[in-house]
Amino acid sequence: MAVDIRASGAALEGRVVVVTGGNGGIGLAIAEACARAGASVAVWAMNPDKNAAAVERLVSSGARAVAHRCDVRSEEQVEAALNRTVGELGRVDTLFANAGIKPVTPFLDMGLEEWRQVMAVNLDGAFLSMRAAARHMVARGGGGSLVAVSSVSAFDGSPGMEHYAASKAGLLALVRSVAVELARHGVRCNALVPGFVDTEMTADWRRDDRMMDATIRRTPARRWGSPADVAPAAVFLADPEYRFHTGATLVVDGGYSVA
Ligand code: NAP
Repeated sequence: MAVDIRASGAALEGRVVVVTGGNGGIGLAIAEACARAGASVAVWAMNPDKNAAAVERLVSSGARAVAHRCDVRSEEQVEAALNRTVGELGRVDTLFANAGIKPVTPFLDMGLEEWRQVMAVNLDGAFLSMRAAARHMVARGGGGSLVAVSSVSAFDGSPGMEHYAASKAGLLALVRSVAVELARHGVRCNALVPGFVDTEMTADWRRDDRMMDATIRRTPARRWGSPADVAPAAVFLADPEYRFHTGATLVVDGGYSVA
């Protein structure tokens, strides 16, 4: 019988995980799940009160955790957050590029400013944070895991969210290219694709009965997901045991995208 030699140890013991936008919603659930799996966690996000609350929650559950105020649109702030995280926690093994925004505006009224805002957070932010972590991982040696949090909007027609959908599809292309380029350094790069998940980002939709009815009817699991439904997949993507798993798209959507 095969013996799991990790049976007594957690999957991410001794590892350091960064979660951008890790102070709420899916990001906080990812941070908590990684912490439960043994990782030290750094949250990079903007709101100082939410950052402090997230750290308190993580630390009170026994994790080692820090938060840095970081606007992922800023190259300077991302580099500073990486340096501070490495200074405090010693290294970075996994980075989740999770920070995102999703304004909804009819396409005919969508302004260039709003388009650029969405690209700046969702795509530039992922590029800057993944690149900072990748540079650190390659310089340090020993590999690592980069994960971009995309969305089923990357596959679906998403009216009123053309910018959001384009940014999330862009992440899939970014992930594939980085996976190919950095594989020789042992740095993996994958996409995590949630379906409809109950968070602050989707609060307006939760109040819209027609939207809820349509999405639940199309989802084979017959419900929306919670952040905790997505988090175990994140631990899998961070786990260094899966060292041959790169360039992939992991969909966690209750079957929505195949129905
Ligand atoms: P959320 O609760 O609104 O969380 C978004 C996070 O992004 C917040 O922590 C926010 O932190 C952070 N953020 C926004 N702008 C930022 C910036 N410029 N710099 C740094 N952090 C920034 O939404 P969520 O639903 O958990 O979304 C998390 C990710 O999952 C997003 O990429 C989203 O597109 C994706 N997603 C969500 C769903 C869903 O149904 N909820 C489905 C598919 C994909 P501050 O408040 O501190 O700014």
